[in-house]
Amino acid sequence: MFDYKSGLDFAKELDQKDKLAPYRNQFHIPKDQNGNDLIYLCGNSLGLQPKTTKAYVNQELEDWANLGVEGHTEARHPWLPYHEFLAESMAKVVGAKPIEVVVMNTLTANLHFMMVSFYQPTPKRYKILIEADAFPSDKYAVESQLRHHGYNDTDGVILWKAREGEELLRYEDLEAILEKHGNEIALIMIGGVNYYTGQYFDLKRITKIGHNSGCMVGFDCAHGAGNVQLNLHDSGADFAVWCTYKYLNSGPGSLAGAFVHERHAYNKNLNRFTGWWSHNKQTRFNMRDEFDQLPGAEGWQLSNPPILSMAAIRASLDLFNAVGFENLTEKSKKLTGYFEFLINELNNEHIKIITPKSSDERGCQLSIQVKNADKTLHQKLTESGVICDWREPDVIRCAPVPLYNSFEDVYKMVEILKAILNE
Ligand SMILES: *Cc1c(COP(=O)(O)O)cnc(C)c1O
Repeated sequence: MFDYKSGLDFAKELDQKDKLAPYRNQFHIPKDQNGNDLIYLCGNSLGLQPKTTKAYVNQELEDWANLGVEGHTEARHPWLPYHEFLAESMAKVVGAKPIEVVVMNTLTANLHFMMVSFYQPTPKRYKILIEADAFPSDKYAVESQLRHHGYNDTDGVILWKAREGEELLRYEDLEAILEKHGNEIALIMIGGVNYYTGQYFDLKRITKIGHNSGCMVGFDCAHGAGNVQLNLHDSGADFAVWCTYKYLNSGPGSLAGAFVHERHAYNKNLNRFTGWWSHNKQTRFNMRDEFDQLPGAEGWQLSNPPILSMAAIRASLDLFNAVGFENLTEKSKKLTGYFEFLINELNNEHIKIITPKSSDERGCQLSIQVKNADKTLHQKLTESGVICDWREPDVIRCAPVPLYNSFEDVYKMVEILKAILNE
């Protein structure tokens, strides 16, 4: 798609032409002992801190110091409706309507709360389909939901697996499973972008396949949110969840997101766990009223939320909105394409990129399999200033993040990898 060339000069040229290059300076880039920027390719695990975050958090600390409880209504961004300040920009980032999105709890907690509503097993239809290489937390959550409802967590989980000798999942295999077991499956729950291979699934297609067989369909988009344009509304999925500490740069353990499709917004009959924050805002503080369900995704909240964490999310989302997701996607494809080009140029028989080749079927992450390698490779990369992630048995996951990584970062990473492999 792009015409790449080898050599450091070309990387520098790409950086010079990059409209988003100035955003790097809006982030704190971790440094080595000599004060040089590390090559940080781990935004898929913990995104970097925007320089504005501190001011956003400090504002809430100050308002709390000055106002005490009055801050709920009198803070510059009042705390009572604070989550509403995030809804619109978060909705844009994941391609949803504001009524479909809420920031609350943490990721695995949200996954459970969504399953309370969208996993309604019956003795005939109780199974859950997930991808074979699902993120462990998702797998544990799904298994425990089965047990919670009194079903067996072994035969109750149906795996969508890669074929022998392959890493990526094929839709025709999913269709074949549904053809055979569709009427036994209550829920399809897939990681929107697989954390291990980086495969970005066609959410719309999976949803269609699932709905055709009468299954509910939900996605864990932890590796998608802030990385690819998910278009959750158009996907038609029943629900989705994601975290904000990976590509959404909102700090370790920060709050998570949840999406509930508009078609469920006013359904008061859906089973769910509730708390006072799921109650009609106008009458919430009457305290003695009968429960009155708040419409939309907001209606899945339980508690008054941690404002400090939300302030960090607001700082990050303001940046995303300033950049615009289309610009981000454009650079992302170019940057990861360049990374792929350089890795392929190494022409090393031990190296294989297991992430899809098509830029529409991946985000910025490349998962690089290095045959015969062990964790010392990762150690050497770290010692050389490359921060990336190692997954057993032999895969390094690297995510050049378009908001703060440069073409030079990618160039240097590959040079360092080459030097280590030639040792
Ligand atoms: C990162 C990640 C998690 C982590 O869950 P937490 O509840 O935030 O600790 C779970 N699932 C997926 C797919 C992830 O990528």
